[in-house]
Amino acid sequence: MIITGLSLVFSVAFICAWHVDRRRVYLVLLGVACPLFALGALSQALGIPPGDGANAVVSGALYTAAVLSIAEGILWRSGKSFGLRTDILILLAFVISLAFFYYGYRSLLTRIYIQNFGYGFIFLAAAFKLTSLARGGRVDRVLFWVLLAFALHFFPRTVLTIGFPADFGRDALAHSMFWQALRLSLAVLACGLVMAILAAAVTDVIEDLRRERDIDALTGILNRRGFEERVAVYMRAGRRRVAALIFCDIDQFKAINDIHGHDVGDEILRDVGQMLAALARERDIVSRFGGEEFAVFLPDTNAQEAFECAERLRIAIEARDFPALGVGGRLTASFGVSAIKPDDDWSSLYKRVDAELYRAKRAGRNRTASHEARHPSAEGDLIEPQH
Ligand code: GH3
Ligand code: MG
Ligand code: MG
Repeated sequence: MIITGLSLVFSVAFICAWHVDRRRVYLVLLGVACPLFALGALSQALGIPPGDGANAVVSGALYTAAVLSIAEGILWRSGKSFGLRTDILILLAFVISLAFFYYGYRSLLTRIYIQNFGYGFIFLAAAFKLTSLARGGRVDRVLFWVLLAFALHFFPRTVLTIGFPADFGRDALAHSMFWQALRLSLAVLACGLVMAILAAAVTDVIEDLRRERDIDALTGILNRRGFEERVAVYMRAGRRRVAALIFCDIDQFKAINDIHGHDVGDEILRDVGQMLAALARERDIVSRFGGEEFAVFLPDTNAQEAFECAERLRIAIEARDFPALGVGGRLTASFGVSAIKPDDDWSSLYKRVDAELYRAKRAGRNRTASHEARHPSAEGDLIEPQH
């Protein structure tokens, strides 16, 4: 009865967790597994359906369905699965063999072995498919090891039944201390598994929220918050760092909004954001810093390299057709660049790069400003756009 009650509480917890975030369908599978298990336990305890054979087959089918739902639920969380066909075949194999070892060749112990070894193998197979979790975050690792322990515990508990006299019958076995101990160990480990899965689900939800919080919904790249957080991590790392920051501000963007409408403005922002992300290197941190301003942080990059990178971005934007702006629609952007200095913090770096951007605007836009880089142009320290 306690097990049944606990199963129902867990089921409610899984369904509530699913309710919070309906994309996590695996929680429904786990929410269904618990009542299936409870029904199996009730069927055994209350003798429904009556008759040992029917009861063994029905409760066995319910337990097996619960085991498969739990295993599939855990697998689905990681985008894996045994497949529906395999699940149905496994369920049928259990039902047929349980029926055979009652109606064909009656053996209680064989039925116990089939169920325990069988369930152990199902969970072992799931753990085998999820070995990558063992190298993941803390919650993933706990889930993996609890799953493995749960799978393995079915083997010693089964072997222990070997000493049990085969002619004792179902009732004697059910009331023995030995059986109660096995039930307790199952309940404790099952609770541990459920807790580990719930903790994993909660962590998934929190991590997703955190990711969404750091992403700009319009462009799909980092927002200012996410950007500053990642840059701060880099700047905090005590080693001597070489890195540079680029600010990019679209020229006359207000006029684009005024002439073509806000929706076109949004489309341009999306395009520019995607362009910068595509042109940046894997380790660069690209963000929409705000409005029509983008920031790119370049680890292990000096001022000269960053300047050249900004120029490549500027030329790419200048050369690109933006159909949303009409036939041959073009766009330009201005860039400011500076590299980290030894006693820089984020705020001093930010101010310097912002001042460079302002200089690029003042000098006529569509150019890159950096006091620290050699400019290939003969005009001085501000490169003139080539037309
Ligand atoms: P400058 O060349 O000096 O940078 O001129 P600008 O017009 O680009 O600069 P300004 O700062 O005057 O205008 C920026 C405009 O960007 C104003 C604002 O309406 C627009 N903007 C900011 N965020 C969004 C957005 O999410 N979508 C759209 N469509 N427009 C935006
Ligand atoms: Mg602008
Ligand atoms: Mg601006």
